[in-house]
Amino acid sequence: MGPATLVVCAGCGFRAPDDEPYPFRCPKAGTDDVDHLMVRELDPDRLEFPGGDEPNPFVRYRELFHGYHLGHAHGLSDGDVVGIVEDLDARVADVEGHGFVETPFAPAPALAERLGFEVWVKDETGNVSGSHKARHAMGLMIHLVAVERAGLVPEGPPPDLAIASCGNAALGAAVVARAAERTLRVFVPTWADPVVLARLEALGALIEVCPREEGMPGDPAYHALRRAIADGAVPFTTQGPDNGLTIEGGETLGFEMVSALRRADTGLDRLVVQVGGGALASSLVRAFEDAALLEAPDRLPRIHAVQTEGGHPLERAYRRVRERVGDGGSPAKIVEALQHARTHRSEFMWPWENEPKSVATGILDDETYDWAAVVAGMLATDGSPVVVSEATLEEANALARETTGIDVDHTGSSGLAGLMDLARRGEIGKNERVAVLFTGIRRKEGTT
Ligand SMILES: [Zn+2]
Repeated sequence: MGPATLVVCAGCGFRAPDDEPYPFRCPKAGTDDVDHLMVRELDPDRLEFPGGDEPNPFVRYRELFHGYHLGHAHGLSDGDVVGIVEDLDARVADVEGHGFVETPFAPAPALAERLGFEVWVKDETGNVSGSHKARHAMGLMIHLVAVERAGLVPEGPPPDLAIASCGNAALGAAVVARAAERTLRVFVPTWADPVVLARLEALGALIEVCPREEGMPGDPAYHALRRAIADGAVPFTTQGPDNGLTIEGGETLGFEMVSALRRADTGLDRLVVQVGGGALASSLVRAFEDAALLEAPDRLPRIHAVQTEGGHPLERAYRRVRERVGDGGSPAKIVEALQHARTHRSEFMWPWENEPKSVATGILDDETYDWAAVVAGMLATDGSPVVVSEATLEEANALARETTGIDVDHTGSSGLAGLMDLARRGEIGKNERVAVLFTGIRRKEGTT
């Protein structure tokens, strides 16, 4: 019998060796026009979708993590892994005031009344560091500790961690890095919010400011991150192409939604989700796919990815893949078009030409790094992308706060803006059940 989890490149098919402690990035990444992305695959003959009511998602869904099985193959017991998670979680609570627990996901009746159909809201504003982002960091940290305990990496001081972000991703990473007493290097743009920088500094992160480079397209902080990783830092990012296993931690969000829907004995017709770098959407797509593989839900919701008029590289990529699929969209044509897209990245994804601007600052990534999984998810479920105006983003934020009492910021309610657009176009039926995610809490200075 093979291992219960494998890590395989979705672009070129490279399979990480079973004992590789850091199967984060495909060795061929950056050498050609293939969209290399390491993906953790589950063996449905060896695994079941976890039940139980363990409140910490990293304990409840532990058997769906690669590090769990890698550790297990090298002497760590189930109790050892639970111990690693609980110890880290207790130290997160020391830093943050609380650790990781399943976040609320429930119908929002007042919002439904205004929209005219059933809406469920997943509320991440009370999660560690005020957003869903720390989930990615926690998943990676558990992996790093597990492979160290299992003796899969040389003893000695652990490598530095690195991330490019000036918002919730950096804050989440900094809390988890502080809890684990690791050095975190954070690459930020010149316009980073001083309130966020002060918090990062208080958490002990090392901040490096990266000015835009003349004639160099794309995000300068991201270029600096790539250089740090080349020098040996561990990518502690939320972007799958840099660290494919970051998606595992993000998937706990989707797993919790699947578990809540199972408890209510119901399912979703649509999931409308905001997209910047794409890790949130790809984590959700992946979580629902993994759960379906393990026969948890009987069908997948239609996926709609939301971007702003200020920049929508994912929508651009989707349109190009959709053109290739052509009319009708048979499954075989979809597979062929996706295969072509994954091996000709530059025809589909490149940095947005103008520096994107929006009130939803947290989804202004120049590129959608995790684009292919999200495009695939939309095509497979007959979903679609939505591009929203600034006026709709403002309206959605006011409606979200008024009808749910959740103090969500503009980025965090931008999925709802997309849902409002779909509803206005008459795309949502009266009997449909739709979910949105409120992902980030409103901070002083309006930063996400
Ligand atoms: Zn590859």
